[in-house]
Amino acid sequence: MDNLLELTFGELKNSFIANNVQPSRAYPVFGWIYRRSVFDFEQMTDLPKDLRPMLKDWYKVIELEPVEEQADPSGESVKFLFRTYDGHYIESVLLQGGEIDDETETLGPERLTVCVSSQIGCPLGCNFCATGRLDYKRNLSAGEIVSQILLMDRYAKKKYKRETPGRAVTNIVFMGMGEPLLNFENVMKAIGILAFSGGFHIGARHITISTAGIAPKIKELAEIGLQIRLAVSLNSVNQEKRKVLMPVARTHSVNNILDAVKYYQQHIDRRITFEYVLLNGINSQEEDVLAMKRSLQGIKFHLNLIRYNPVDEIPLSPPTDEEYRHFKGFLRKHGIPFVERFGKGREIAAACGQLGLCKLDERLAKSKS
Ligand code: SF4
Repeated sequence: MDNLLELTFGELKNSFIANNVQPSRAYPVFGWIYRRSVFDFEQMTDLPKDLRPMLKDWYKVIELEPVEEQADPSGESVKFLFRTYDGHYIESVLLQGGEIDDETETLGPERLTVCVSSQIGCPLGCNFCATGRLDYKRNLSAGEIVSQILLMDRYAKKKYKRETPGRAVTNIVFMGMGEPLLNFENVMKAIGILAFSGGFHIGARHITISTAGIAPKIKELAEIGLQIRLAVSLNSVNQEKRKVLMPVARTHSVNNILDAVKYYQQHIDRRITFEYVLLNGINSQEEDVLAMKRSLQGIKFHLNLIRYNPVDEIPLSPPTDEEYRHFKGFLRKHGIPFVERFGKGREIAAACGQLGLCKLDERLAKSKS
């Protein structure tokens, strides 16, 4: 039996043709699922009555299992724990605000951004990241990626009382667990499923893919030609520092990544986001800013400045207040455009780099009680 969440609109139409069902019936089915969150064919009232039981025999909607929701005290972020069909766990986050707007460089209070995971664990093991400490299990399927977004969208509609048909979520960022460009096919398929105009209808301009710097895949993404915002976790342009912080730098050097970023910008005329996690005593000097200024010349970008969000058992610390203030001064002095990201969700370990299934056993026990 096919899981509808794994099918693009085109695939559903082809599947209908193979089953001798009028392909145009795929339109209402996509509308019910992605605009109205109705998964029961019997409730899809504009489908012929005799067709509904047949569809029920052939297809079903398999969602992730929601295990826990944790809202931070401000109510601006909610972290979700989901279980996959094969018993693994992933986390995703719903944020009020979220990604910066290209034109206005604001975060917009009306924005509802979902930060989604693309893998179970992560094979890249960046040493400042909680996910990097987990065992890598597997890629998420397109349907599992789609399911995270639908479940958070339903939650958001209830929480923010946006009960009209259509989505509440305004932006999607692939910044959760895993490296999205190492799960390229499924991530792109999920984006295709969610883009369909008769369904969830979210355009590429509202989607950000964040990468640790998989240079050839950045180029491949550029060649697809979608207006997706590219974010690169930079943290330093010094190759030696980067190799320590992010082992993936041994395979993809800073120079290779920046070449790929320039290639991306030649194809997709959008500002690049460079993420810069500021760490105490590691990447906070004026020379770091000067090196960055030299390396990023010719790229239209802004920097997301993230004060390191501490993670249990990782022996790194956030910058001191003074260090942070000085670093911002260096950025201004050398004309690097930046936006401060304030670690939304820090209290519930939902901020950038903190998705690490912390205290999982405790949380599972609590969710059962
Ligand atoms: S920062 Fe991203 S790429 Fe690096 S370990 Fe964490 S999830 Fe993986």
